[in-house]
Amino acid sequence: MSATQNTAQTPQMAHAAHNSVRGRLGPHIPSSVGGALAEDGRRQTLWLTESERGHHHARPRIGIMGGTFDPIHMGHLVAASEVEWKFDLDEVIFVPTGRPVFKLHQHVTDAEDRYLMTVIATSSNPRFTVSRVDIDRPGVTYTIDTLRDMHRLYPNCDLFFITGADAIAEIFEWKDADQMWDLAHFVAVTRPGYPSDLSKLKLPRGAVDMLEIPALAISSTDVRRRASHGEPVRYLVPEGVVEYINKHGLYRSHVSTDTEHVSS
Ligand code: ATP
Ligand code: MG
Repeated sequence: MSATQNTAQTPQMAHAAHNSVRGRLGPHIPSSVGGALAEDGRRQTLWLTESERGHHHARPRIGIMGGTFDPIHMGHLVAASEVEWKFDLDEVIFVPTGRPVFKLHQHVTDAEDRYLMTVIATSSNPRFTVSRVDIDRPGVTYTIDTLRDMHRLYPNCDLFFITGADAIAEIFEWKDADQMWDLAHFVAVTRPGYPSDLSKLKLPRGAVDMLEIPALAISSTDVRRRASHGEPVRYLVPEGVVEYINKHGLYRSHVSTDTEHVSS
């Protein structure tokens, strides 16, 4: 399905689309953050004032939460919220992947469905927003391209790329991994079932922080499996995402025909 036209082709256009989502859902810019969007859709550089914790920083601090979000679940939201709080971020931008490079040989739900579920899941948090940069960029999604686009869109901000312990362990397999460290600080969050010791990875000094977060043994893989068997997914994903899955019949491909709904 395609509820939103996939038209933005450049980071600027993608950013405009990103902001039009803000327009539809109301002001996502936290009230504590001053300043306004410039005409080209970029933020003016003056906008930083006070963070949620009452601290002042010389530059705005933006978290980037990349993921396939197939579907987005509570583990993603807790991870983003914890990093936002502990690293005193002004905003976390969720960036659903286009064609994920490590999932080329498996079925991935339509990008527009994943995007809309991410918008639904984040809409109640004034510090969470969603960007289309990855889903509007043709071809396979590489994190280096996400970071370069974000760097162009937010040139005067400090970027914090949020990732789980499972993903950080594979970071050297990512394209142009050596060029990522200059573009963002990395925050790896703990994830049940994956080692949280970074010392075995030969990461550049100071480039990555490990943050312990409340353990949620939730994965999109398990949510999809549950949904396909008609098992409950309520409380593993936000309520609106349960409804979206039901309404659009997602993850039903392996369900016998007598299963009407995903239990929730
Ligand atoms: P899948 O099972 O399809 O791979 P997933 O649950 O791993 O899905 P992704 O979209 O692949 O979700 O993950 C996006 C980011 O969120 C990754 O950096 C991943 O490590 C992190 N993440 C996902 N689930 C959790 C969790 N329960 N706790 C902490 N981090 C998580
Ligand atoms: Mg994953």
